[in-house]
Amino acid sequence: MLYVSTRGDRQERRFCEILLEGLALDGGLYLPTHYPQVSVAMLHAWRGLSYADLAYEVLSLYIDDIPAEDLRLLCRRTYTQAAFGTPQIAPVRAAGEGLYIQALSNGPTLAFKDMAMQLLGNLFEYELARRGQELNILGATSGDTGSAAEYAMRGKQGIQVFMTSPHGRMSPFQQAQMFSLQDANIHNIAIEGVFDDCQDIVKAVSSDLAFKKAYRIGTVNSINWARLLAQVVYYFAGYLQVRPGIDGPVSFAVPSGNFGNVCAGHVARMMGLPIDQLMVATNENDVLDEFFRTGIYRVRTSADTHETSSPSMDISKASNFERFVFDLLDREGARVRDLFTSGLALDGQFDLSHDSRFPDAHSRFGFVSGRSTHADRVATIRSVYSDHHQVIDPHTADAFKVAKACRRTDVPVVVLETALPIKFAGTIVEALGVEPQRPAGFEGIEALPRRVQVMAPDAALVKALIRQHAKAA
Ligand SMILES: *Cc1c(COP(=O)(O)O)cnc(C)c1O
Repeated sequence: MLYVSTRGDRQERRFCEILLEGLALDGGLYLPTHYPQVSVAMLHAWRGLSYADLAYEVLSLYIDDIPAEDLRLLCRRTYTQAAFGTPQIAPVRAAGEGLYIQALSNGPTLAFKDMAMQLLGNLFEYELARRGQELNILGATSGDTGSAAEYAMRGKQGIQVFMTSPHGRMSPFQQAQMFSLQDANIHNIAIEGVFDDCQDIVKAVSSDLAFKKAYRIGTVNSINWARLLAQVVYYFAGYLQVRPGIDGPVSFAVPSGNFGNVCAGHVARMMGLPIDQLMVATNENDVLDEFFRTGIYRVRTSADTHETSSPSMDISKASNFERFVFDLLDREGARVRDLFTSGLALDGQFDLSHDSRFPDAHSRFGFVSGRSTHADRVATIRSVYSDHHQVIDPHTADAFKVAKACRRTDVPVVVLETALPIKFAGTIVEALGVEPQRPAGFEGIEALPRRVQVMAPDAALVKALIRQHAKAA
C-alpha cells in the first residue's frame, strides 16, 4: 500500500515513512492510493475476532512495511482489557428504538482519542527503535488530546513529550489527569495565556527548522494518518455488534470537531462496510454542518469561535476535512490545492455549491449533518437519562440529538460516545442535578502530587526546556 498527498504531489510513500510525519511536503494530507475492499465473506470471518485481532486485520490491509507478526503483537499489546476497561474494548449498548451507543471512552483518559493514541504510542516506539532514533513530541492542548498523548507515550523508549496547556483553563479533572503523571519522559508546561498562545509557541518552535531538526521535534496531531487508520477499526467493531448476521446497513452519528473521527467512518464505508448514513454532529461551532447543508466551507476567525459546553468540538476549521474533499472531487489534487491555499487564504472560504459533484456528498458518500446548542445538549442528557437510565456526556449528547433528527426509520444508528460524563461534570450537574459517577481508579486524583511547570508565553523558554532534557541529534 502506498500513500499520496491530497494536494497533487504524486510522490508515493510507504506507511512507516509517513508514520512519524504530519503534513505531506506540499502541505497536503496523506491518503492511501486506493481503499482496499472488504467482502461480506471477510466480514463473516471477522465476526468472532477479539478487538485486537480485528484491528490487526484492518491495519494489515494498509501497512505492509511492518512484519505481520510484529503488527499483530502491537495490536494485542495495545487493545487490552487492562487499558480499556472491558474485554470488547468498544462495546455497543442499546439506547431505545433502533438507537445504540458505542463506548469509545473507556481508555486511560476516558475519551475516544485513546483508541488511536494508545496504538500510536506503540507504533512510534517500535519504529523509532528500528531506526535507532529518538523523537521529542511538542504539542498544545486544551484538554483531551494532550492527556491522551501523554498516557500513550508515558514510559516509552526514545520518546519525550513536551505538552503546553493554558494555565488554569482546563477542567480540574483534566489538569489532575495530566499533571499527576510522574514519568520522567513527560513534561507538562502550563502557559500563562490562552490556548492560542500555546499553539503559537508550538508553531514558533516548529518553524525554527534548524532547532526542529537538531532536536527531532514531532507532533501527534489529528491529521496523522496512523491515528485515523486506528479509528477505522471501531466502525467495523460497532457494525459487527449491531448486525452480527451481516444482514443490512448501519448508520453512525459522530460528535465532530476536526473531522478525524467521522473521516475514519468515511474510510470504513469506502472499504465496503455497509454504512448507510454518516451523521456529522457539530455544536454551535458549525463549520461542518454549514458545508454539508450549503456547499460553502467558511473558516471562522477566533473571535467567531465559541466556547461551548462540548469544548472538544470547539473548532474554527476542521483539519481533516481536506481528505474528504479530495475524494469528493475525484482526487483532483490540483483543485484541492487551489481550494485550500488560494481559496481559503484570499476569502477565508470556498464554495462548492455549484460543483456538479457536491450532491455526491450526500448521495454517493452518505453524509448528513446537524447542529446542537447548549440547550439541546442539556435537554438530550435529561431525556436519555429519564428514558434509558443512562448518563451521556455533552459531546455524545450532540450526536444523539442529530441522530434522532437525521435517522431513517428502518436503519439502526450507532451514536459514538466520545467521552465519559465525569470529564464534564459541570454540565451533567446542570442537566441532572447529580455528580456523574467516577470510574474505579479515578477517586481522589485531584489530590495527587503534580508535575508541571508554569511558564510565560515565550517560545524561547520552551526551547530551553527541550534543550535541557533532549539529546541533540
Ligand atoms: C476530539 C473530540 C471530538 C472531536 O473529534 P474529531 O475527530 O476532532 O472530529 C469529539 N468529542 C470528544 C470528547 C473529543 O475529545
